[in-house]
Amino acid sequence: MIIKIYNTLTKCKENFINDKKVVNMYVCGVTPYSNMHLGHARTYIVFDIIRRHLLLRGYLVKHIQNFTDVDDKIINISNINHINPTEITKKYINEYFQYTEKLNILKAYAYPRVTMMIQDIIDFIKILIKKGYAYAINGSVYFNIKKFSKYGMLSNRKFANYNTVSKKIDINKKTYIDFALWKNKKENDPKEFIWNSPWGEGRPGWHIECSVIAYKFLGSTVDIHGGGNDLIFPHHENEIAQSEAQTGKQFAKYWIHTGFVTINDKKMSKSLNNFISLQNIFKTYEASTVRYYLLTQHYSKPLQFSYHLMKMAEQSLHNLNETYIKLLYKVSLDSIKKKDNVKSTTILDKDLLELQEKFFNTMDNNFNSEQALSYLHKLKNLILKDFLGVSIQRLYQFKLLFEEFYNKSLGFKLPSNNIIQDKNLQLILQERVQARKNKNWTKSDELRKVLYQHGYNIIDLLDNHFITIKLKNL
Ligand SMILES: [Zn+2]
Repeated sequence: MIIKIYNTLTKCKENFINDKKVVNMYVCGVTPYSNMHLGHARTYIVFDIIRRHLLLRGYLVKHIQNFTDVDDKIINISNINHINPTEITKKYINEYFQYTEKLNILKAYAYPRVTMMIQDIIDFIKILIKKGYAYAINGSVYFNIKKFSKYGMLSNRKFANYNTVSKKIDINKKTYIDFALWKNKKENDPKEFIWNSPWGEGRPGWHIECSVIAYKFLGSTVDIHGGGNDLIFPHHENEIAQSEAQTGKQFAKYWIHTGFVTINDKKMSKSLNNFISLQNIFKTYEASTVRYYLLTQHYSKPLQFSYHLMKMAEQSLHNLNETYIKLLYKVSLDSIKKKDNVKSTTILDKDLLELQEKFFNTMDNNFNSEQALSYLHKLKNLILKDFLGVSIQRLYQFKLLFEEFYNKSLGFKLPSNNIIQDKNLQLILQERVQARKNKNWTKSDELRKVLYQHGYNIIDLLDNHFITIKLKNL
C-alpha cells in the first residue's frame, strides 16, 4: 500500500512517506464574519476524507484548524453595524460547528483562535526581528522578503525586482512585497482587537497566526498542510517564509489545495457575491446530499455548481440509502430465520475482495473520491442483483463492505429507519397500509407521494413491510 499525494510544493504526485504512526495535519480555517458557503464546505469535506483514509490506512491524524477571529472584514462589519466584533465571530464560529456536524465532518484535535494566541504571536515576531527577517517601523512590524531567498517557491512566482512600486504601497514597507506581522492600531479598530506589544498597541497581521499555531500545536514541521487554492498566494507563501525563517526547518512536507466550486465558470466567493450559502442549500437538500455532490469531482479540479447536479446527487444518494436499508432488512430477516447465530465475517469472497482493493487503491491515489463513488455504486448494483438469493454470510459481507466505503471512508451517515412522530402523518401512513392490503395501488401511490412531500420516503419490502427514511435534516 502506497499513498500518493499531489504536492503543490513540488508540483508532482509523490509517495507519502511517513515513518511515524501520527500524521500532523494543519488546515487553514475560516474567518468567521459571514455565512459559510459551498466552497468552504468542499475544502473541509476534502480534508475530512483525507483524514478518514489515513485513519483506515493505520495512521493517527493530529488535525489542527484555526479560526481567524481578528481580521479587517470583521472590523468593517462591526463598525458598519455597531456590533461588538466578538459577537460576530461567536455567531459564525457556532455556525461552523453546527454545519460541519451536519455534514459529518470529524472534529479537529483543536481549533485555536488568534485571540487566544496573542502572546505566542508576539514571541514569534520577536524572534523573527532578532534573526533579521523582520523590521519594526512606526508601531508595525513587517517581514523582510529580501532576506528569505526561497520566497515564491510554493506559488511558483519570481520577485526579481523587489523595488517595483505598487500603487497600494505602504510607506512603511522597505519593499512593496513585504507583509505585515503586526499592525499598528488604526482609528477605527475596536478596543476588543487592540493588544499591547513591544512595538505599541495594535493587532497581528493575517498570516502570522497559522505559523504560530502550527508551531505551538504540531512543532517545527507539519506533514500535511492545506486549504483552498486561493490560499497558495500570498497566505501559504507567507506562512512558509515566517515559519522557515523562525525554525530553520522545512515547514510542511505535503501541501494539498482544493479546487473551487464554480458558478458559470467563476469561483464561488463572498467577494464576488455569487455564493450559495449552506444555510440556503440546507433548506432544500439534506446535508448528506451536499456532501455527496461535493465528492463527485476530484478535489483538485473545479466543481461546477448547478441545481441539476444537486438533484442528480440526491437521486444517487437515495438509491444507495435504499439499497442499504433493504440489505439491513434482509440481514435481520435471515438472521432470525437461521437462528444459528451466524456471525458476521471479515473474510470476503474473491469478487468483493477485488472491489475493496480497487476502492482503496483509488483513494490511495491522491484521494480520488470521484472514482471511489463509482466503486460504491458497483457494490450497490451487486447487492441489488444478488441480495434476495444469497447466503447470510454473503449478505454480511455486503453490509461490511458498504459500511466501509460509504461511512468509514467517504463519511456518509448510515441511514436508519426513521419513525414518523407527527400524528397526522401517522394516520396517512396507516391509511396507506390499509390501501396496500386492499391492493389499491393507485391510492397507495398517492399517499406515498403525500408522505414524500412531507419529508418521508417510504420503501416497500416483502409481505407489506416497509421502511421510512427521513429526507431532510431540517
Ligand atoms: Zn493559514
